[in-house]
Amino acid sequence: MEKEIEALKLQLQLKEKENRRLKELLKIPDPDTCISHERPELRTCLTNAEIGRYSRQLILPEIGVQGQLKLAGTSVLVVGAGGLGCPAGIYLAAAGVGRIGIVDYDEVELSNLHRQILHSEGKVGMAKSSSAASACTQLNSLVQCVPYRIQLDSSNALQIIKLYDIVLDASDNVATRYLLNDACILSQKPLVSGSALRFEGQLTVYGYKDGPCYRCLYPKPPPPETVTNCSDGGVLGVIPGIIGSMQALEAIKIACGMESSFCQKMLLFDGQEGIFRTIKLRPKQPKCRVCGDSPDITELIDYQQFCGSRADDKEKSLNLLGKEERISVQEYKQILDNGQKHVLIDVRMQVEMEICQLPTDNFNLPVSCVDRDDSLASLKDHIQTKSAGDEDLPVYVVCRRGNDSQVAVQKLKNHLKSYSIQLKDITGGLYAWAKHIDTNFPVY
Ligand SMILES: [Zn+2]
Repeated sequence: MEKEIEALKLQLQLKEKENRRLKELLKIPDPDTCISHERPELRTCLTNAEIGRYSRQLILPEIGVQGQLKLAGTSVLVVGAGGLGCPAGIYLAAAGVGRIGIVDYDEVELSNLHRQILHSEGKVGMAKSSSAASACTQLNSLVQCVPYRIQLDSSNALQIIKLYDIVLDASDNVATRYLLNDACILSQKPLVSGSALRFEGQLTVYGYKDGPCYRCLYPKPPPPETVTNCSDGGVLGVIPGIIGSMQALEAIKIACGMESSFCQKMLLFDGQEGIFRTIKLRPKQPKCRVCGDSPDITELIDYQQFCGSRADDKEKSLNLLGKEERISVQEYKQILDNGQKHVLIDVRMQVEMEICQLPTDNFNLPVSCVDRDDSLASLKDHIQTKSAGDEDLPVYVVCRRGNDSQVAVQKLKNHLKSYSIQLKDITGGLYAWAKHIDTNFPVY
């Protein structure tokens, strides 16, 4: 027994040594040791190594030695190490920004890699903040990268933001947008905000010079059910690539003492049409609750409560139906195995149907079409054909995660009132099917 313990201890030591070696190799900064509370040093001259490295931007009259020194003396906080934060972070590091903080609570997943280009297959499962920081440090060891593996919230945002000169909102949810806006106004830091969805992107700079803040434009958060994120709506990876790069550009201009192009202006990018447009925004509002003449928000509030939504993009499980209106994937598998006659409605979009489907005859009725008369008519036809004389076949509804299917069941209950059919949603949808029934079933 004692010998075994000794052997295990030895193994542990070897693993720890290997771990340290790999960390060193990947230049993964250790959050506990590298958080400097000092501002980057303001220097008066560049080293030869810096002159060589930055020569192409040093000869730009708009940058020059003074601009490069300003960059080296600037700290930028990138909130989100995802599709926007990756390109933004790497260009800030390449340009020689003195210190870059990278905030992200999440871990790298395979489905991130088509747009979050600082991570890689070997980093799946690793903290995104460390992964992004190590990529930036590998590109430019002259800059200090500080990973924060935390969820930014009212308890920590001001404390971290005060250590930085410029903040980049590279997050993906409304609660974090309000949090960053208020924290930046209270700390008097410019906020370079970006967003991307499907083929479209937006960029603006809030709280800079006399421009408006996010609250001036959007005093009230949108109803949570109207907000679409990339996980549900999809995004082409290069779109956040373009917007994130432009966030880095604006941060660099501000750091060098040039004007930002997006104070009280918003860039709208349509990647499908290849069009950039800049629109003028409404000015700063005297009645704004945080940046107005007599603000009542003088400290951070609870933003998840204010927005009625969570500060992350994790799936939220709805619970709209009673137990008798639901069926588990195991029960549904039994129905298929027994060859029991039924009707299956898949309420995903057509494009999703092409990715994967349950291995049985199913009727595609996208949840967005459930209220349409023509769709309902063809559904009724389908039910009648399937029944072929048999009374009241049970109808099961499936979707990707088990949320839309519940919404669809609720709506269909009303539309099919005259039929005495049993209508149930398949709990957890195709995710649950892939998890519990068929581990080879594709997950997207
Ligand atoms: Zn405002």
